Amino acid sequence: MKLLEYEAKEIFKTFGIAVPSTGGVIRDANDIDAALKKAGDGPWVLKAQVLAGGRGKGGGVKLAKTEAEAREIAEKMVGMQLVTHQTDAKGLKVEEVLVDQASDIAREIYFSVVMDRKSGMPTIIASAEGGIEIEVLAHEKPEVILKMPVDPDRGLEPYQGRRLAFDLNIPQKQIGAFVKMASRLVQVFLKLDASLVEVNPLILTPEDELIALDGKMVTDDNALFRQKELAARRDPEISELEREAKKTGLSYIGLDGNIGCMVNGAGLAMGTMDTVSLAGGSPANFLDVGGGANEEQVTKALKIILRDSKVKAVLVNIFGGIMRCDTIANGVIAAAKAVDLKLPLIVRLEGTNVKEGKALLQDSGIKMEQADSLWEAAQKAVAAAGESK
Ligand code: GDP
Ligand code: MG
Repeated sequence: MKLLEYEAKEIFKTFGIAVPSTGGVIRDANDIDAALKKAGDGPWVLKAQVLAGGRGKGGGVKLAKTEAEAREIAEKMVGMQLVTHQTDAKGLKVEEVLVDQASDIAREIYFSVVMDRKSGMPTIIASAEGGIEIEVLAHEKPEVILKMPVDPDRGLEPYQGRRLAFDLNIPQKQIGAFVKMASRLVQVFLKLDASLVEVNPLILTPEDELIALDGKMVTDDNALFRQKELAARRDPEISELEREAKKTGLSYIGLDGNIGCMVNGAGLAMGTMDTVSLAGGSPANFLDVGGGANEEQVTKALKIILRDSKVKAVLVNIFGGIMRCDTIANGVIAAAKAVDLKLPLIVRLEGTNVKEGKALLQDSGIKMEQADSLWEAAQKAVAAAGESK
């Protein structure tokens, strides 16, 4: 799960890492005055809270010298579609805007902690040339990027922190402060089971103060069971339907098309989506009901698919392996009855006991089309979705 900048900076603060004075986030431009007041004296910086980098260049980071200017920016920024090089052409809707007191910048440094898979160690990546995307830097000037592995049991050793400080040209009198900050950022990474903690830029002010101006964090979802606070956060990247599907143990990802797909196995689900596209249609979702595609799972999956009003036809493509086709057929029949399915239903079964399964579907009295191959099923689904538009 990715955290928004303000969430990351709130966490930084609890670890004693210096962040700008903040007025918090606003979801309504009318709340700007209170936020400015809380942040302190101007100038201020307004920052779109979306999960994409390069906001600065896309118009999602704006400095405001006066209250009137801040108000004007807030009115434009709340609700805007922000397009950056990391989003698609549609961009991301800005629901929240962070209002911070602006900082004076003398230098921008890049600092992050990532999991280096090669060495199997948390590793600090840093560069004296911060502010620009690390990918760009890695491409154009790989020699200015520093790497330092960290022992996960011991955290950052003081000598390692000093080594980094020298290599980053941190002013002499701030070396102690830098070492503290760096080791605290490593602690954030370790304590919160992160897969990424990034500060870009970490700034030096003209008074040589060190401040984490930006923050990005990605948590390791496999560790969420022991990160109760993180797990309770709303993941802004998933929709309401996806959230519900997750709770019921289904792997569901909503898409833009109109053919609802119910498939068992992630590979088969991908293949089904490809085949639907090849047949000229467009899948409404990725959905893997999992290995134990029993009646209950199939019913849950069908309910989730039908909650998406874009769906005009439902394609069930299930391979009977350990779960036999007749069991699956009974599941599909019960599910169709349970949700009182009105949309065209196309079913393709294959595998163990396929004959029995098909006969059960045939005799069920439920309106559906059966297909013998995936290609045939995809074509039938595309045709049906076209007709029921
Ligand atoms: P990103 O573009 O999404 O990574 O957003 P950042 O928070 O990193 O901001 C982008 C750039 O805006 C930074 O590299 C700074 O140059 C500038 N910026 C952000 N906040 C401030 C601030 O408080 N004062 C000044 N002077 N510039 C800022
Ligand atoms: Mg940044």
